[in-house]
Amino acid sequence: MRFTADDRGFYGDFGGAFIPEMLYANVEELRSRYLEIIEDQDFQNEFRGLLKDYVGRPSPLYLAKRLSQKYQTSIYLKREDLNHTGAHKINNTIGQILLAQRLGKSRIIAETGAGQHGVATATVCALMGIQCIVYMGEVDIARQAPNVSRMQMLGAEVRPALSGSRTLKDATNEAIRDWINNPVDTHYIIGSVVGPHPYPDMVARFQSVISEEIRWQLKEQTGSEDPDLIIACVGGGSNAAGAYYHYLDNDNIRLIAVEAAGLGVDSGESAATSVLGSKGIIHGSRTLLMQTPDGQIIEPYSLSAGLDYPGIGPMHAHLIDSGRAEAVSITDDEALEAAFECAKLEGIIPALESAHAFAALEKIEYGSDDIIVLNLSGRGDKDLETYIKHLTGDGKD
Ligand SMILES: *Cc1c(COP(=O)(O)O)cnc(C)c1O
Repeated sequence: MRFTADDRGFYGDFGGAFIPEMLYANVEELRSRYLEIIEDQDFQNEFRGLLKDYVGRPSPLYLAKRLSQKYQTSIYLKREDLNHTGAHKINNTIGQILLAQRLGKSRIIAETGAGQHGVATATVCALMGIQCIVYMGEVDIARQAPNVSRMQMLGAEVRPALSGSRTLKDATNEAIRDWINNPVDTHYIIGSVVGPHPYPDMVARFQSVISEEIRWQLKEQTGSEDPDLIIACVGGGSNAAGAYYHYLDNDNIRLIAVEAAGLGVDSGESAATSVLGSKGIIHGSRTLLMQTPDGQIIEPYSLSAGLDYPGIGPMHAHLIDSGRAEAVSITDDEALEAAFECAKLEGIIPALESAHAFAALEKIEYGSDDIIVLNLSGRGDKDLETYIKHLTGDGKD
């Protein structure tokens, strides 16, 4: 079976570009040019150069000895938390800003929920001296003040989305409206493997540097480039897509996709899309999403802002639907426990999103001879307040 996009952007039953006519010109320009641009040697040289000298790649692949001992197996951590801006998101925004330049765009828009993608976008716009407008729900602006300040310090304009629930989906609507009104000079940087074709494929290609590095790093350390399992958390699915990418066609390697169960899969406060979702269209893509019987999007919930998304990228919908990937759901509390365990055993404070991937170690079966690669998608500085509350028991019961 094929797990990357076909030339119309489909992954089996999922994907495609289901867009209003008014967006057609923008998306079609991107679709018809993206491969030629990113496969160009000049582009690759500049992309690779920035990943090395600006982002700090390759990120280390680290054998976590004390964690391995506890779980009686070999666990390697792919340290995306050590990238500039503290997560994997910068791999994609670097790629897209270089693409935007080659498309002759002078203005960048983005949407952000927790602000992480907004910061990664504002960062590359500052780097290139390009105007940056980030749409963010008014509620999120209040909740995520430090990231709003970061974006502003980086020279971006943060525009509040005032409609609906004033969160991520409303910010996305505002960004799409802006793009329709500014089709010529503006590029829309989407932050995950979601949205209409070619975004899921394009973002997966930019993030695939993660598994490209895992291959030679694992070979250097173990003699084989193949792990037995790869574990990654899935919000939209970009860090997981990057960690899986070069291993998709090797069925011997188990792919574990970890979703946020929030307060519990059956609690009504969850973001476990692959369990609770059904086929539908969200943000221009046919995929699994959480929806009411009449097709309205259900607000997701997770303590972790990066996993709080009502859909899942079409590649992951296909991987899970076809049985190629195994989905695991992890609650807020399980993720918090895992974050503390990682901090105490390895001296690494993971992002709350990444902590969901750690918590999966308790939920899945594996052998003592197995080699597990766990994608540590980001660092936990941004979640410190949440962690401290947990430590002091605040906000519990
Ligand atoms: C945004 C984010 C995620 C979730 O996004 P994906 O596209 O699913 O990777 C996961 N981890 C961290 C640290 C993030 O910032």
